[in-house]
Amino acid sequence: MAAHEKVDVAIVGAGASGSVYAAVLAQQGKKVVVLEQGPDWKSSDLISSDIWGRRIKPAGGPFILEGKNPVSYGYQGGWGVGGAALHYFANFPRLLPNDFKMKSEHNRARDWPISYADVAPYYDKVAWDIGVSGDAKAEEPWRPAGRPYPMPPMKTFRNGRVWLKGFEAAGIRMVPAAVGMNSIEFKGRPACIYDGWCHVGCPIGALANPLVTYLGDARKAGAEVRPLSTVSRVLTNSDGTRVAGVEYYDQTKERQVQEASVVVLAAWAAQNPRILLNSATERHPKGLANANGLVGKYMMTHFASGTFAIFDDDVENHMGTTGAQYMSYDRYGKTSHKDAFGSSFIIAGTALKTSDLGGFANARLDLFGPDLHAFMKRAARGFTRIGAFGEELPNIENRIELVSDKDEFGMPRAKIIHNYDKEAEALWNANFAEGLTIAKAAGAKEAWSGRGNMPTIHLMGGTIMGTGAADSVVDSYGQSHEIPNLWVAGPGIFTTGGASNPTYTIFALSLRGAERLAANWSSVAG
Ligand SMILES: Cc1cc2nc3c(=O)[nH]c(=O)nc-3n(C[C@H](O)[C@H](O)[C@H](O)COP(=O)(O)OP(=O)(O)OC[C@H]3O[C@@H](n4cnc5c(N)ncnc54)[C@H](O)[C@@H]3O)c2cc1C
Ligand code: SF4
Repeated sequence: MAAHEKVDVAIVGAGASGSVYAAVLAQQGKKVVVLEQGPDWKSSDLISSDIWGRRIKPAGGPFILEGKNPVSYGYQGGWGVGGAALHYFANFPRLLPNDFKMKSEHNRARDWPISYADVAPYYDKVAWDIGVSGDAKAEEPWRPAGRPYPMPPMKTFRNGRVWLKGFEAAGIRMVPAAVGMNSIEFKGRPACIYDGWCHVGCPIGALANPLVTYLGDARKAGAEVRPLSTVSRVLTNSDGTRVAGVEYYDQTKERQVQEASVVVLAAWAAQNPRILLNSATERHPKGLANANGLVGKYMMTHFASGTFAIFDDDVENHMGTTGAQYMSYDRYGKTSHKDAFGSSFIIAGTALKTSDLGGFANARLDLFGPDLHAFMKRAARGFTRIGAFGEELPNIENRIELVSDKDEFGMPRAKIIHNYDKEAEALWNANFAEGLTIAKAAGAKEAWSGRGNMPTIHLMGGTIMGTGAADSVVDSYGQSHEIPNLWVAGPGIFTTGGASNPTYTIFALSLRGAERLAANWSSVAG
């Protein structure tokens, strides 16, 4: 085992949430080490090809996926520096005020310990830190006014515009989508060229991935990013009152210890609970921060209802970005759909490739041979789709547990058990039904619902925030209730999931948490 100098902060995971903590704390002069299980990707590793793009994604995980609606990796798995945000679509909707008050407004689930007003300044700050394009004024029917976005909206293409007539007929207002992409040059990073390869990472840096934003800032400020370092446990002092560092395995599978004054777990919603549960000691027999048994509980996902259509004209479906061109919160009210409960967030307009993630060759799984060939010919020019993300309410039975089986480093694997309830299914179906109405009103020649297994994307929960140790794992900043120098970041700390893609909120909450940690450094770090 190599000797490593003790650092101020050890951050586990170099993705969306970890990069923010690394930047803020390194800029405050703290000695920061980011331990990342995967490779140290560079922008030059991002090659615009579906085949090559598979190299930068996880090939699976140390998880056993169970339940009626098992969690999937496609739209959330990250591996290597940049995490999943290295190749995300950067749709940047925010949670809305109603998300924070589920219990008080609907007597369902629970309220967040903070309100929209606590997060709003951080949404604005993130937008100007990393670059968001959109029209903040146009969003005001749904949320309190804030700062304008630093860049105007992205360009639109026929694959998005062709739907507008249908949305109008349904009484749904579509506005420019807020996306973490450059509509114009921003902080020395170029404007997007609309070639639609975001899902395998943007080689030119027009997509606000961690490498070209917060992690780049962190490195400039002196943070060390240590790739191929898989953290297995958080270590504590002898009386279990403080964390002392982390145990990890390097690429030769040799055990290493990194001592640190503060540990921030930012290894994604599934890995953070796994590490906490595996860090059990005599003083913490159920795992760290888990005296109340809530670590790994209340896992939540989003489900998307995609409506697919073929139009007569050429909709230029190869053009644009994989993010959306238009968005709407007009179905975001929790009771927007009769006989269903929960928010829906609607998007339209996205570039499509032939195969792989979201490719139109996968849009008719029932077709083979000549029928598939004929479909592909029609779809190549006329295929486009819209989508509505739906909210799943937190359910304590949706959970992560360690199992006896071990991974290559000898760390117990974990199982993620996930089932949707009837309400989630009802919301999924309601969004499909509305999608078909919209497609018809838009003049689609053929339209169908993109069903299949009910999607399970954007994993959240497992280390939820709350007001106290009795009913939550961390406070609203991500500081664990049980051990003051143990922090958790990412979608795992969400109390409820809303229907908005989570990463803008992940960045905002991480910034809020990191600034708090920096401000209270001496009392937290001891
Ligand atoms: C194709 C795709 C499209 C997406 N589109 C959107 C979108 O449009 N909008 C949106 O809001 N979100 C989107 N997402 C989701 C978004 O990327 C995630 O919500 C976000 O990256 C989660 O942030 P995180 O910091 O929790 O995890 P990540 O960004 O995944 O970072 C976690 C990091 O921790 C590392 N790690 C895990 N375990 C360990 C360990 N034991 N030791 C050391 N390191 C470890 C991982 O390798 C990873 O690099 C998309 C994701 C994908 C894959
Ligand atoms: S569409 Fe724009 S953001 Fe996406 S990969 Fe191409 S240049 Fe980058």
